[in-house]
Formats: sequence, structure tokens, C-alpha cells
Amino acid sequence: MPKKFKNRTALVHGGTRRSQYGELSEAVFLTQGFVYPTAEEAEQRFVKSGDDEFIYARYGNPTVRMFEERLSHYMGFEDGFACNSGMSAVSGALLALLKAGDHVVASRALFGSCLYVLEDILMRFGVSVTLIDGTDNAAWDAAISDETTLVFLESISNPTLEVIDLKHVCDVAHAHNALVLVDDAMATPVFSYAQDCGADLVIVSTTKHVDGQGRMLGGLIAGSKELIRGPIETYVKHTGGAMNPFTAWTHLKALETMELRVRAQAAAALQICEALTGHAKLSAVRYPTHAAHPQAEVAQGQSEAGGTVLAFEVKGGREACFRFLNALEVATISNNFADAKSIATHPATTTHQRLPQEQKDLLGISDGLVRFSVGLEDAEDIITDLLQALDKA
Ligand SMILES: *Cc1c(COP(=O)(O)O)cnc(C)c1O
Repeated sequence: MPKKFKNRTALVHGGTRRSQYGELSEAVFLTQGFVYPTAEEAEQRFVKSGDDEFIYARYGNPTVRMFEERLSHYMGFEDGFACNSGMSAVSGALLALLKAGDHVVASRALFGSCLYVLEDILMRFGVSVTLIDGTDNAAWDAAISDETTLVFLESISNPTLEVIDLKHVCDVAHAHNALVLVDDAMATPVFSYAQDCGADLVIVSTTKHVDGQGRMLGGLIAGSKELIRGPIETYVKHTGGAMNPFTAWTHLKALETMELRVRAQAAAALQICEALTGHAKLSAVRYPTHAAHPQAEVAQGQSEAGGTVLAFEVKGGREACFRFLNALEVATISNNFADAKSIATHPATTTHQRLPQEQKDLLGISDGLVRFSVGLEDAEDIITDLLQALDKA
């Protein structure tokens, strides 16, 4: 896509590859393999494949390539590698870049599976990991040293919506020649600021806002051509993490509407946050760019909106919180987020159930905490629903 077009246009046309049939909608190339006119050309393709030359779908596929280009360019990066889930992207990027003896600094408030990869898998292979409070700039300054190879964080944490001063972390990491890898699921590709702040690699679970309708699992690692077509591609293509072409095709179609959906959901999230703030049955309401968020200033300085999820704490602990959840009529009880359907999650008993109590306390995952993913329903219906359910808490 030539640079003169704006982002919304890039989401509709970016990366498009048309076959000889001139199809209007992107084609799904549901093929594992590719044929070569001659043995000599097959040999040549294995020596070096050109941009539009493919060998095997685990290495690359035209539909997947369209998706990689469309989303990574939209996010401001040179290239991307599409994976079969957000976690295969996270684990693929980490394992591609790290070796025994390396040191990683990460914020403690991480998605459970990311924490498992860092604490259990990487530690098992001799990588040392220092976990810190990511909201504390001084903690990053103290933990990152010349021994540090890589810094890993979620720009907005799940489920408590803590915000990290990403520019600061990138500057400190780069002063020590460490790479910065950002898990950007909560920030959304639309409001992501990771590239602006200087992150080297950004991972998105495309299961979330890219699909946006609760169907597909997927992930993308975006970064410079050098990293993506170097260590990242080499590792992921040989270990089997590639995205399948049908997922890439549904994602391409979903990207066409992503900005419209995510902007509407983010505007509704702020409106709902305002409607709930100060409610007698709630002890806290959080949305990153809302004035009452403890790090509102950092959040507002980094992005125009804080994603599509809010968090609030129902007074009266688990019993009151369950009464509230069970009284919801529009929102559904589930554990995903970024769906067209509003979703209420009780992290303490579901997504974060296995954490020991002291870790839940450290992360602020209380018995009254609700993570609320704002869907595409009418915001007034969502607010009415939340208020009537709070009455029953
Ligand atoms: C959902 C999520 C993941 C994992 O993505 P999957 O597509 O479910 O594998 C990783 N990190 C964060 C922050 C997430 O929200």
C-alpha cells in the first residue's frame, strides 16, 4: 500500500494479492503445498524463495501472507509472522530470541499462560527471569542491566488494567541493548502505541479484537524485517506454529471492519465507566484513559483510548459479586474478551483461579473484581443491564 492512504484504507486493501481470476474478495488458498514447473525451479525455490513464492503452508501461504502484511503494516511495522494462537506467537518469539544464560525482565501482571512460559519453561532452559511491578519506573531502572537480553510486558495488564510507561521502559532497555517485546492484546491494534514508543516486537492475540466475534484463535508477531524474516520465521516455521489459511482469510475479512468495531466498543467502554463511577455498590471502577484511573495521565499520554475492557470491584466479596453476575441479562458470563457480545469475567475463580492467594493479593485480583469486556450492543442497554444487576448484588 502506498503511504498516501490512511489507516482505515489499509485495513481494507493492504496486502491484497489477486490471482489470475481477478477475484474481488481475497481468496482463501486452502493448500498445504505448491507445485513447480520444473525440477530446476523447485531447487531454486529451496535455495531462496522470493516474496510471492511459497513452498509449504507451515512456512508461508498466500492468504496468510496477505494477512501478515495487512496487519503488521497497519500497526506501523515492516513485517509480521502469523501464528496459530496468541500463545504460539508469545512462546515462539521468546524461544526464537533467547538462549541459556540470558536474562529477561518482565512486569509481574501478566496473562497466566505468559507467566507459565516465563517462569516454568524459560527457567527450565536456563534463562533467568526477574518479575517486577511494571507500573514503577524505578523498578525497571533497577532491574534492567547490561546482562538483560529482553524485556517483556503487557502494555495494559489483564485483568486489572495496569498501565506501563512504555516509552520509559523502551528507553531504559535500549540503553542496555535489550530488546523490548510487548504483548499488546488489551491495548488493541487500533489504539496500540507500542511502535510509537519504540518497542522492537509486538505480539497480538488476534483471537481478540482482530477476530472480534469469538470464532478464531490466532496471533501475530510484528517487527522489523530483520527480526521477523530472521530468527522469528526460522523458529516458528520449523516448530509448527504457523497460522492456517482459513483463519487468515476470516481475519482478513474481519480487519475490514476492525476500526469501526473497536472504536465503537472503546467509546462505549468509557461511557459505561462514567456511568458506573461512584456507584454505591462498587469500591472501584477502572478504564485506562478515564480520569479516575491511577495512571490516567500515562495512559492518556500514550493513546487516545484505553481499549474495550473495564474492571470494577463489587462490594461484599464473592457472594455479592456472583449475585451480580447471575443477574446480568445482556452481558454473558465467559472468560474471553473483545467479542461482539459483552462478557463479564470473575478472574479470581476462573482465569486466575490457580494463582496462590498471596499472588492474587499482589496483583489486585480480589473476590469482588469483575473484568468487563464491552461488546457491540447498544451502550445504553449495557448500562441499564449493569445497573439492574448491581441492584441485586
Ligand atoms: C488472550 C491473550 C493471550 C493468548 O492469546 P490466545 O490467542 O488465547 O493464545 C496472550 N496474552 C494476552 C494479554 C491475552 O489477553
